[in-house]
Order: sequence, then C-alpha cells, then structure tokens
Amino acid sequence: MATIFSGIQPTGEVHLGNYMGALRHWVELSKKPEHTSYFSIVDCHAFTIPYDAATFPRAVFDAAVAVLAVGLDERATVFVQSDVPQHTELAWYLGCVAPMGELGRMTQFKEKSEQHKTSVGAGLFTYPILMAADILLYKGTLVPVGHDQLQHLEFARDMARHFNHRFKAEVFPEPKPHHLTLRIKGTDGGEKMSKSRGNTIAMLDTPEQVWKKLKGAFTDPQRLTREIPGRPEVCNIYTMHTVVTPEPALTEVVHNGCTTAKIGCGDCKKLLAESLERDLGPVRARANELRAQPGRVLEILNEGGATCRAKATETMREVKEAAGVFGARSRP
Ligand code: SF4
Repeated sequence: MATIFSGIQPTGEVHLGNYMGALRHWVELSKKPEHTSYFSIVDCHAFTIPYDAATFPRAVFDAAVAVLAVGLDERATVFVQSDVPQHTELAWYLGCVAPMGELGRMTQFKEKSEQHKTSVGAGLFTYPILMAADILLYKGTLVPVGHDQLQHLEFARDMARHFNHRFKAEVFPEPKPHHLTLRIKGTDGGEKMSKSRGNTIAMLDTPEQVWKKLKGAFTDPQRLTREIPGRPEVCNIYTMHTVVTPEPALTEVVHNGCTTAKIGCGDCKKLLAESLERDLGPVRARANELRAQPGRVLEILNEGGATCRAKATETMREVKEAAGVFGARSRP
C-alpha cells in the first residue's frame, strides 16, 4: 500500500513537458489498486510569486480541466489546495520545527528570489514547509518528483522526522520519492519547456498549432542536411517519440530511419505529429467536453475537497494531540 501526493501549479498552460514528464506517470500510478492517490491544483504555492488575481480563478479552472482530461479523477482524489485550509494550518506547526538553515539551502529559493528580485515575500522562503504539509497531511508515502523537486522532498522527510522526534510521536511516515526521470526539452533546444521562454507545445494545442511549433523545433544539431545520419539519443523529437509512438514503428521507422538517413527530420516530425494526435486527440476532446460543463468540473473538485478535508481533519487531530494543543483532547 502507498499513499501518493502530487500537485501542479496553476501558473500557465500544461505543456508536453508536464504531460510526458509527470501527468502520464501520475495516471499510471493512480491506476494501481494498492495506491491511494491525491492530486492537487496547488494554488497557494502560486501566491509565492507575482500573479494576476483577476485571471487566477480561470488559471485554476484550466489546470483542473487538464488534470481531469487525462483521466486522473478515475482513481485519484483531485482537489484545489486552498479548499482544504488544513494545508496552511499544518504548515504553521511544521514551520515551528523547521530549521532556518535547511530552508536557506534550498536552491529553488535562491533561483526564484533572483528571478523576482523586487518582490520576494517570506512565502517564497517558507514554500518547502507548505510543500511538506501538502504531503504529510495525507500521510503520503510516495511522491512523484523530478530532479528539481528532490531537495524539497528530502526536506519533507526531514519535517516528518523533526516533528515525530520533537513530540515523541509517530504521526508522520517519511515519504519516499518516485523518480520522474524523463525530461522534455524546449522546442528551441533549451533544457526545459517553459512558457516564459516561449518554447512549449501545449498539451491541448490543436493539430495545426502542434505542427506549427514542431516544424521549427530543434533536432540533432549535427544533422545539417537530409543525407547526414542523425543521433536519436540526443534529439528531443526522438525523446517525444519514445512516449507516444509504439513499437515496432519506434525502432524500425523512427530510430533506424534516422540513423541510416532513410527519413529526414521533416518526415520524423510528421510521424510525431500523428502519434501525438492519436495520444492527445481524445484528451483534447475530453477537455472540450469539460469546458462545456463547468458545473461538472466544480462538482468533481468540491467532492475532492470534501474527501480531503475529512482526511485532513483526522491528521490535524493527531498533530494537535501530539503538540499538546489546548482543546485537542477533552479539556480538563
Ligand atoms: S530524424 Fe528525427 S530523431 Fe533523427 S535527428 Fe531528425 S528529428 Fe531527430
């Protein structure tokens, strides 16, 4: 048995990097009968950097549509973080046992505070505490994480240990990582797809939009002409093929075609566009259905919120009892 927690920030369109690197794995993990899964639109995390309050509810709705369109709600509880106030409540208790030194070593804080120099709030510094609370509130034991989130997960493990040790109680298990190793580069060859860099292909883009972006996408830089054999192992287009193009076409047509120069990069991209449409066409159709029924989306999120609040109430009772909070037990 494992309890899985993961979240996505509503800070921009869900792109192929998110879909291939994380969302698909979430769905697979949630399908295992021995797993109980919680997936959150982590809106409180988005408040740590400047954002537009007027368009924010729409961003949360769009993120929810994307998560539901890939089918996560079939086995997992999907909810919005701010619908469960115990996340921020637990963050306070954990914050009181969190060593400042550990927070100061977080590389993501250093990077983000550089990026948002003029508006660094304390929330950006204490962000890992809220992330630890997200996981520990559900007694999460398995957390899908990419390389850039490993340090935060290690911090969450430390928080579980610090709290249990400080109050001599076994309230929290130590969550383990489920490593997400696939990284999709930007269409410009940049290390990561990122909306701010304008190098993304959105998960819900139409076939026309996908093709427009794929056409100019970076490939093997040494394949300067059609006659030069390519190196699939360094090519982002091939990495995407490995996710959506099944065998034997992946090896026989794409890999062998590339290394023997039987196919050109244009042919290869056309095949990828077809594979993407086979994979994502149904997801886009489901997203369109959901957008046409916003009431249904809210209903799913409300149900998820209620389930999570019930679980969170149980955990907070244990937390308060351990911490000696007046009123946690019947008062003297
Ligand atoms: S043929 Fe495909 S895999 Fe090979 S370099 Fe071109 S785009 Fe990349």
